[in-house]
Amino acid sequence: MSQVFNIEKLVRENVRKMKPYASARDEYHSDGSEMVFLDANENPFDNGLNRYPDPQQWKVKKSLASIKDVSEKQILLGNGSDEVLDLLFRAFCEPGQDNVITLPPTYGMYQVLANINAVENREVLLRKDTLEPDVEGILEAADEQTKLLFFCSPNNPTGNRFSDETIRQLLGSFNGLVVIDEAYIDFSKEGSWLRELGNYPNLVITQTFSKAYGLAGLRLGICYASRDIIAVLNKIKPPYNINALTQRRVVEALADTGSVKREIETIVSERIRLIPLLAEIPFVSDIYDSDANFVLLRVDDANKRYTQMLERGFVLRNRSTQPLCNNTLRITIGTPEENQKLLNALKTLR
Ligand SMILES: *Cc1c(COP(=O)(O)O)cnc(C)c1O
Repeated sequence: MSQVFNIEKLVRENVRKMKPYASARDEYHSDGSEMVFLDANENPFDNGLNRYPDPQQWKVKKSLASIKDVSEKQILLGNGSDEVLDLLFRAFCEPGQDNVITLPPTYGMYQVLANINAVENREVLLRKDTLEPDVEGILEAADEQTKLLFFCSPNNPTGNRFSDETIRQLLGSFNGLVVIDEAYIDFSKEGSWLRELGNYPNLVITQTFSKAYGLAGLRLGICYASRDIIAVLNKIKPPYNINALTQRRVVEALADTGSVKREIETIVSERIRLIPLLAEIPFVSDIYDSDANFVLLRVDDANKRYTQMLERGFVLRNRSTQPLCNNTLRITIGTPEENQKLLNALKTLR
């Protein structure tokens, strides 16, 4: 790295100086003995949810830590990864002053969060030919005020995973935090960047239960980073951001990952089966190779095809307004039956 990484210098001054809200349940940690809880103004009659949830979600973190081979102190949980991403903006980006870098075409929430937090978003388009990040462009766009760089890998909506070499180059030369959004990592044949967490003090990885784990309705996102970065995010997170039902359900899900593994295998093999069949459809001109659970197609007229499919009962995602994505539709891989119906319907379009 061009200068020694210093988290204290990166964090917003007000966050560095503040004391976090100490909730009743932060002060007391159970040693297993029976206690009478009269500290949090709860209703004392047990209905399974009358108590506040664990603000640090230790049971969830314990399971995740052992599965992912990281420390519990390197994990922060959010109400979806969207909350995690928002916490990163709020901890590190001074409104009206700092900026972030994103690499369109990419996930729309980075821009939304930049707007909400009054932070400038410097967009550096992916390379048109390879859809890889433009390393020189990124370093040119970055300045002292650039606090976060977002890699979405595998990328939404293009589906490709960025090369390790590209990411490594930026981890070593960019002075802010490098956030790798791995929402789709479980569908990729290459592994997660988690194994590198100990090697890069500026690396932040986000994952989610919303895609491969089949729990989008729960709203649970994960942030993995150094203990120092996690400590900063912990200071500003809402005290009870993960509700008790979610915590319970996720501990169950993590105890039995066999069915999730089988579902992922089915989705990936369906993706591999589907791509050549989609390529045969006359109005499909291009299909992006995918490491995710969706494919991006270029068609002759995306608005027309989108509407035709809607009339046949299929909701697709038109991504045509994104840079480099004119006339593209993003299609999620469904069940084998849904995919067959999709192919049949696409074939009837004139
Ligand atoms: C779907 C998705 C997420 C998931 O967000 P949650 O808030 O965890 O549901 C995050 N990043 C990307 C790129 C996504 O496509």
